[in-house]
Amino acid sequence: MICNNIGVNSKNHITFSGHDVCELAKKYGTPLYIYDEQRVRENCRIYKDAMDKYFPSALPCFASKAAAFKRIYEIMKEEGMGIDVVSIGEIYTAMKAGMPLDNAYFHSNNKTDEDVAFAIENGVGYFVVDNAEELFAIERICEKACKRQKVLLRLTPGIDTHTYEAVNTGKVDSKFGSAIETGQAEEITKLALSMNTIDLKGFHCHIGSQVFDSDTFLRGSEIMLDFIALIKTKYSYEAEELSLGGGYGVKYVESDPEIDIAENIKQVSEYIKSYCDKVGLNVPKLLMEPGRSIVADAGMTVYSVGTIKEIPGYKNYISVDGGMTDNIRYALYGSEYTLFVANKAADEANFTADVVGRCCESDDIIQPKVTLPKPERNDIIAVCTTGAYNYSMASNYNRICRPAVVFVSGDRDYLAVKRETLDDLVANDI
Ligand SMILES: *Cc1c(COP(=O)(O)O)cnc(C)c1O
Repeated sequence: MICNNIGVNSKNHITFSGHDVCELAKKYGTPLYIYDEQRVRENCRIYKDAMDKYFPSALPCFASKAAAFKRIYEIMKEEGMGIDVVSIGEIYTAMKAGMPLDNAYFHSNNKTDEDVAFAIENGVGYFVVDNAEELFAIERICEKACKRQKVLLRLTPGIDTHTYEAVNTGKVDSKFGSAIETGQAEEITKLALSMNTIDLKGFHCHIGSQVFDSDTFLRGSEIMLDFIALIKTKYSYEAEELSLGGGYGVKYVESDPEIDIAENIKQVSEYIKSYCDKVGLNVPKLLMEPGRSIVADAGMTVYSVGTIKEIPGYKNYISVDGGMTDNIRYALYGSEYTLFVANKAADEANFTADVVGRCCESDDIIQPKVTLPKPERNDIIAVCTTGAYNYSMASNYNRICRPAVVFVSGDRDYLAVKRETLDDLVANDI
């Protein structure tokens, strides 16, 4: 199985964390997002335990854009994770879940004055500042509120990870952050240090996504530590915190590599410790911002099969009752997924088809060219590893209601997000 929380039971049905997903589909309807609570927690603990063990001081922060709803924030709070937030919507959701904001890091390349004021008012611990304009906005609002704001500066170390272009953010020409190479990183550091209302804590970089080895993180930390050393020499300021961003990859299909995150964190720590020694720095508090690797394999989506269309000599289509409205990742990035006919789990796979959604859009494809047991109408299709960037990217395109989110935990299942209703769709229409 693509992930060890997926199995097949005596009814020949797919199970997720021991739960028959066909039963869950019957109980809650389809399409349905299912999360494995235990797996979310285990993934948090892999980071937490390894970072505590290998760094003098460290904190993993869940990049909540990967999956943002109240239940997830409650779990992050219980697991002692920090959080990354990128909008006041995420901040508000975290607050509603009772998540303290001291360890919240507020990202975004374009925070409006309203965003800045909301975050400062509600005590968001850190701003990860993208550019100089943002520093001025924080200063203006802090002066009025007589507050001082802790800040990390987001820098671009100029690294080209060999992942897909759209998820590659560490290059000099990125829309995110200030580039070290162009001197802009030093300029914004000077500016931050000159401002009374800004409490500069350190620096941040985020190099990419779906990264499967430590090489990228090692090169990233070397560039960042060189920069920290340069700033120390020139301005007598030594950063206390260094965030290496997110990005460890997850296995979506059998051909994807497997990654031992704890081992990789150990390698990064050894490298950072020896490099700090070499350039005469104290080892900073180390932050990481995993998103995908916390929730992706803790999620599965199930759909009901509708139309099956065979076009002899061309191709076949299996249409399901969801699509790009609940999973836009194939349309956006050509992302791969592993699929099953959940009620014919171990049957012979002999039917090749594109599994498509029901939106009026040709690119509304969940996955092309998958070979499955031939399904019939009302069979259940399970798409694995959908816990990251599926629900959080869901839309109401074609006025389709967003699915419910259900959690399984031990022998319990419970609703975390209700299915949207037709009335929800018109709630804001005047
Ligand atoms: C998207 C993002 C992350 C999380 O990346 P994953 O690949 O999901 O781990 C972390 N930090 C920042 C700044 C991001 O933009």
